[in-house]
Formats: sequence, structure tokens, C-alpha cells
Amino acid sequence: MPTADTYGRPLRNLRISVTDRCNLRCAYCMPEENYVWLPRKDILDFEELATLVDCFTDLGVEKVRLTGGEPLLRHDVADFIAMLAAKPAIRDLALTTNGILLDTQAEALRKAGLHRVTVSLDTLRPDRFRALTRRDSLDKVLGGIAAADAAGFKPIKIDTVVMAGTNDDEIVDLIEYGKQYQAEVRFIEYMDVGGATHWSPERVVTRADMLARLSSHYGAIEAANADPSAPAERFALADGTVFGIISSTTQPFCSACDRARLTADGMWYLCLYARIGTDLRAALRSGASRDELVELLRRVWTGRSDRGAEERLAQRQREALLSPDQLRDDPHLEMHTRGG
Ligand code: SAM
Ligand code: SF4
Ligand code: SF4
Repeated sequence: MPTADTYGRPLRNLRISVTDRCNLRCAYCMPEENYVWLPRKDILDFEELATLVDCFTDLGVEKVRLTGGEPLLRHDVADFIAMLAAKPAIRDLALTTNGILLDTQAEALRKAGLHRVTVSLDTLRPDRFRALTRRDSLDKVLGGIAAADAAGFKPIKIDTVVMAGTNDDEIVDLIEYGKQYQAEVRFIEYMDVGGATHWSPERVVTRADMLARLSSHYGAIEAANADPSAPAERFALADGTVFGIISSTTQPFCSACDRARLTADGMWYLCLYARIGTDLRAALRSGASRDELVELLRRVWTGRSDRGAEERLAQRQREALLSPDQLRDDPHLEMHTRGG
């Protein structure tokens, strides 16, 4: 039986941010000019991370996703994937990437035993890509998606953050693009998480808006079979194409949230919005045994009552969650540090 929190939510899903570094500067995640990075000496090595993963799987974690920052910037990440792939307790091993380095790494990731890849792609237009990410890398990302497909990652998922006035006129184009790979495109509502210092309610394109736009183009849209543990609500077009919407801002799914987040320096957060985490690096490096670590994790998870997105939704006046100064004071609050 997985360990349950105060709302009965099991601990099933672990997201590991293997690096806080990134080779893009997406407007909704890293809009500032400068960032405070985690000190190198604090970054856990693969053995340390694997030890923590074992403790998490002891408590019921069976799904692990590597994220970041950009996880493919972590040197030899395929070696870590191979270590995780050898653990029978992990039923689902996935990675979220911006795709830039997939062209050279997709095959090695597949060979290492990675099960699934999700690529973030917000626009198909080079000028917009440059404006949105402050880098000129759209061709690399598209090449990366092709390489992931060729390496046998099927179906690829493509995640798109939809922002009003930025890329909301491309949702049909993105679905059409995804068809060539039978990829499942998932549209994510713009969230007011740490890092999104330019967030405002007017820039959110809601699930309802997206569905209205898509049905005016495609006609009837049906509900598709749900994956109960996935945040995306799935829909099917008349031709069978499936896409998803992740309505974390207007219809949060906190009541079913089974996710924990581990940063590259071993801080453990129970929610994307949590201000305070548990310092697992300190416990690990002070020589705690596996039993002691497991007991610590159990104690913290059984006391969990986080429902960050629901609490934000209940607020009347909503603006960006954190200021750049607050984020500089504690970079763990950044989305690129704790992993999306
Ligand atoms: N760098 C990798 C990437 O972009 O796929 C992995 C880390 S990134 C933080 C993980 C996911 O978080 C991405 O799909 C990104 O679009 C999403 N994300 C970041 N900031 C967001 C925001 N303000 N609202 C919604 N999604 C966001
Ligand atoms: Fe963009 Fe991901 Fe990098 Fe954030 S971590 S800036 S979402 S590529
Ligand atoms: Fe889970 Fe927190 Fe996201 Fe709600 S806001 S779904 S509790 S991570």
C-alpha cells in the first residue's frame, strides 16, 4: 500500500529536477536577465539521487520523471536513466525536455531504458520561438522531436503552454504538426508558479477558450479515455487524433495529486507552490540510514495537506505569485529549479 497524505493521496509520482540550468529562457519560466544558481557542491550525484529514489519507491513511488531546468544538460544523464531503469519498482520512467539536445541524445536515452519522452514546444514559428525563449533554436527542437520518434519513443507527448496574444492562434497548427508523429499534444494553462513573474490573469487561455477554438475548427470534440493519474484531460477529434488539456489554473487537480518534487540539491517539495521543503541532502550526507530516510519521508508525506493551485484559485485578486527579489533570495522557489 502506498503511503497516503492527510487527504488520502498516495505517494506514487516523483519528479526529479536533475539540474537547475537551462539552455532556453522561456518567458513564462525564466523571464529575468540573471539567475542565482544552486551551488555545485550541493548538487547530488547519481548515487545519492538513486539512494533517495530507493527510499521513495519503498513508500510506493512507481513513476519517476526527470525534469529540470533542462535535464539533458546534466552530464551523462543517460547513465542515471540506466540506474533507474534497472529498478523493478519503477513502472514508468519518463523525461520532460525542451528537445534541443534530443537530436544527439535520443538514441542513448532509449538504449539506457527510458520509457517515455515529453517535449515542450510552444510555437512552430521561428520568430516567435526566438521571442518566447530568447534563443534561436526551433530547428533543433523540431530535429529533436524527429530523433525521438526515430529512436522509438512512441507516442511522444508535446506540451504547449498557451498564452493569450503569444501563441494561442497556433493550437490547431500544433495539433496538425503532432499528427505526423502520432504525438499527443497537451495544452497547458499558463500557471502563476514561481518564475512566472510576468503572469497575469488576462494572459491565461482557459480550457474552455481552447475547446471553443478547437471545436470551431474541427467540429465535434469527444472526451477520450482518461488516465486517472495524469493531469491532462484527454479529448479526441473526429479523425481519432487525441489531445490533452491541463487546466491547472482554472480547474486544478490537487484532490488527486500524487506528486513529489526533488530538486538537484536534494530539497523535497510536496507541491509546485510550496514555499518550504525538506532538506534530504542534509539527512543523506549526515549518514542517515535507508530506514531513517524512509521514516523521514513517511512522516513528511503523511502530514501533507498541500493544495496550492486550489488555494490560488480561491484568491480574488490574483497576480504573479512571487517577485524577482523573492526568487533571488530562494531559487528553490523557481519552476526551473523544482521542475515542472
Ligand atoms: N526544460 C524542460 C522543458 O521545458 O520541457 C523541463 C523543465 S520545464 C520547467 C517543465 C515544464 O514546465 C515545461 O513543459 C514548461 O512548459 C512548464 N512550465 C514552466 N513554467 C510554466 C508556467 N508558468 N505555466 C505552465 N507551465 C509552465
Ligand atoms: Fe523553458 Fe523548460 Fe528552460 Fe523553463 S526549464 S526556461 S520551461 S526550457
Ligand atoms: Fe499537486 Fe500542488 Fe499542483 Fe495541486 S498545486 S496539483 S497539490 S503540485
